[in-house]
Amino acid sequence: MNSSLSTVPPGLAGKVVMSDDRRYRLLRSTYTTVGHPTAIVLSHSADDVAAALRLAREAGLRVAVRSGGHGLSGSGTNDGGLVIDLSAMHRVDVLDRSSRLVRVEAGARWAQVAQALAPHGLAISSGDHGNVGVGGIATGGGVGWLVRQYGLTVDHIRAVEVVLADGTAVRADAATDPDLLWVMRGAGAGAGIAVAFEIEATELRDVGLAQLAVAVEPDGETLRRWAAVMAQAPRELSTAVTLSQQDVTTAFITAVVATDSPALIRDAVAPLLGIGDMLAVRAHVVPYTELVPSAHLHANSGQMPSSTTNGLFTDMTPDAARALLAASTAPDPVLIQLRSLGGASHDPDPSSMAFAHRHQNTLVVASAFPPNDRATLADAWLSLGPYTDGAYVNFESAPNENTFARAYPGPTGTRVTDLWNRYDPDGVLRPQPPV
Ligand SMILES: Cc1cc2nc3c(=O)[nH]c(=O)nc-3n(C[C@H](O)[C@H](O)[C@H](O)COP(=O)(O)OP(=O)(O)OC[C@H]3O[C@@H](n4cnc5c(N)ncnc54)[C@H](O)[C@@H]3O)c2cc1C
Repeated sequence: MNSSLSTVPPGLAGKVVMSDDRRYRLLRSTYTTVGHPTAIVLSHSADDVAAALRLAREAGLRVAVRSGGHGLSGSGTNDGGLVIDLSAMHRVDVLDRSSRLVRVEAGARWAQVAQALAPHGLAISSGDHGNVGVGGIATGGGVGWLVRQYGLTVDHIRAVEVVLADGTAVRADAATDPDLLWVMRGAGAGAGIAVAFEIEATELRDVGLAQLAVAVEPDGETLRRWAAVMAQAPRELSTAVTLSQQDVTTAFITAVVATDSPALIRDAVAPLLGIGDMLAVRAHVVPYTELVPSAHLHANSGQMPSSTTNGLFTDMTPDAARALLAASTAPDPVLIQLRSLGGASHDPDPSSMAFAHRHQNTLVVASAFPPNDRATLADAWLSLGPYTDGAYVNFESAPNENTFARAYPGPTGTRVTDLWNRYDPDGVLRPQPPV
């Protein structure tokens, strides 16, 4: 055992995984990043999390927090530090069916949440991937398949159970600790370790799922037509677009309609058929669980190294559309994904929580892959950055001060900083890249 951890407390016996443990290989890394932590603490309770924080402090080890391990910056692991892994905390309980109040532990994956809620006819909009963890999404935002119908995941958090950096366990709701609740809904990573959330789910069983492939005109007008359709679309319709280079640039559109009525699904999707030359269309009614399926669940081994950044677009101007197309067709292209916003995601008052972006209409995510990912992305972003109006903290692989300013603009950033300093004065949990 590493000498710096020679005093593992009895409560953590069997839960501290070090490099000589055969579990280490499967626990050291995240989705994007291979880590070499000194120890991983498999926490089963808030007490374990507090004990892990104490252990790290006593041993002088830097802390990384991990729920699902899908964070793009790899901050769910580190080199030489201590990882607090919450994956054993994955309970999902319906607290009150009539008010649709659900308690979800932070280490659950969204596929597990969808599976657990389906028998109750409930769902929580999360993200597009079933292996992503509750902790990362529900402390950052949560732009999911139902974003225009339901809003973001954070919009429906009513209370959060947190272990603060000094090991104190608290439950914050609007009455008991409104400041902690405010900061945990969008900037939670720097305030405390969330162990569970109370979230208001929505009534949902089946949804319409349509997959369209559209040839994109070289001047980007197809993207403008997509944005125009989404601006008029019913809230039930949320779409995600991936630009891909086939013989022609193709927009692969996934459209989710939050209803099981074939007629409403047809009506919602029909305007999309007019945005360009359709290469393929498929539509069906599927259970919500199929959008974040259990088949997504997997161990993380650093299998997807990449560089990712993002920006929020308010308007899809001709220049913005052209710039998006140029980035995806450059000799060193980046992968461009667009997510429709609007609808319910615009409902909350921007000052009501740390996720303040409530007027932008499109989330643009750009990714590049090794070996030249950083340079490729930086180059592409030079031409896309000017069209952005803020950013979403969770789609950023190299967060820095600039990311903070874009994710938490103006008074939001001031309040986030104040609250991070109040709840974690030593900056033990301050988000940082794994260096
Ligand atoms: C394939 C893929 C698809 C994605 N799709 C979407 C999507 O559709 N919509 C969307 O909104 N986002 C999406 N994301 C981004 C996602 O929101 C973030 O990556 C998120 O941080 C992942 O959560 P996690 O718990 O898996 O992360 P982890 O890697 O476990 O954690 C990342 C960081 O988040 C913070 N954090 C995690 N858990 C806690 C906690 N319990 N308390 C306090 N802080 C915590 C910590 O700083 C931690 O280091 C996607 C990412 C990937 C890789």
